[in-house]
Amino acid sequence: MKSAVLLQGIVLCKFCQQRDGLKFETALDPDSCYVCKGMLTALKPLADEIIIRLKEYEFESFLAGASVPQSILDREDELRSRLKIKGRDGIKSQINKILSKRVKQRTGKSVNYSRPDVTILASMVDRQITINPRSIWLSGNYTKLVRGLPQRSSACNICSGLGCAQCDFRGKSVVSVQAKITDFLIKKFCAESCNFVWLGSEDENSLVGGSGRPFFVEVTRPKKRSGMEGPQVSRRVKAATFRSKEIQIKNLEILDRRVTNVPQFGIRARIYLRRKPEGKTIEISELDAIRERFSTVLVSVRLSRKFRTVQREIQEIRGKVLHEGESIELEVRCDGGIPLKKLVLGQDGTVEPNLSQYFGSYEIERDEPFDILEVKIKPSRLQRLGASHENEADDESDLSKSDNGSQYD
Ligand SMILES: [Zn+2]
Ligand SMILES: [Zn+2]
Repeated sequence: MKSAVLLQGIVLCKFCQQRDGLKFETALDPDSCYVCKGMLTALKPLADEIIIRLKEYEFESFLAGASVPQSILDREDELRSRLKIKGRDGIKSQINKILSKRVKQRTGKSVNYSRPDVTILASMVDRQITINPRSIWLSGNYTKLVRGLPQRSSACNICSGLGCAQCDFRGKSVVSVQAKITDFLIKKFCAESCNFVWLGSEDENSLVGGSGRPFFVEVTRPKKRSGMEGPQVSRRVKAATFRSKEIQIKNLEILDRRVTNVPQFGIRARIYLRRKPEGKTIEISELDAIRERFSTVLVSVRLSRKFRTVQREIQEIRGKVLHEGESIELEVRCDGGIPLKKLVLGQDGTVEPNLSQYFGSYEIERDEPFDILEVKIKPSRLQRLGASHENEADDESDLSKSDNGSQYD
């Protein structure tokens, strides 16, 4: 036999012989296997360790992958080319199979190549095991019941994001809608962190009412997948309504896949104006004129941090005079993505046309600028996620500035 002549003195373990369908002298001591030096024989303790590590995770399916020292791959290649055999599976996939089989037997879970709940990486180089649970995506709504709570966390102003005692080593402000939802979900899913896709934003002094503002969130590295006690299969997180003094989270639902399309949405909001001390009182006829002028019209909105404008529709603006013209409430129905303060005051022409010609003698209440009464997703038109940063300039474009640590106007 040709190979016997070429490869005299080479011994292989039974796994390496099986893999290439070879008949060699079997290594008495697996460590003397020419290719793997005993690695394949020693997989059992590694599999056992994987099974122990997996006990922390709730999962139905898994995928195992191994990394192998280059020297072993080189010897496998060299042997195969000397024997002129086209190998079927390489040593890596053989390891994956051996590990998968054992994990499957011991846990009763199944192998999934396209969308496993957990991915197991076994490094044969340093015998390290890494478990990567797949992120969970959820949709939900929040209502905001108090003023003075920003939607998003900003970088901690003590440590600027490095993490310190003040920010609970998160590097971000801990008092925000984002932080509160994050806390809730991290506990619920024993997860590491949350990444949000917001459908618009509001002023920190705004309330959010109605059925709440929708959001999508990615929960990363979850140890639990159902969000409830123990393993179960329900997709809905039934128990997952959360209520505190400040916010309420409703309609939390686990999504089948990651969010790549962000829907268009419409809002209904109430804006609060107060007459400046020396300002003249608005006439009722002017409010009528506004209502007529801004009935189903398109306005152009210049996006912050971009040299681009988008068209948004205003369906209706109704004004109500209170306290003999000392204050005015404007109720606006419009597309998401119109900065409301700029719509009313018209600073810097971000929104055109705007209401500045009517409200020169009024200012927006600082502590109570506007409230979001309702946010409704539009079912038909879908928007690419790539364009969703436009939402930064949403109901309140100043928020995008506050992300960078600068202040409100
Ligand atoms: Zn071997
Ligand atoms: Zn800090």
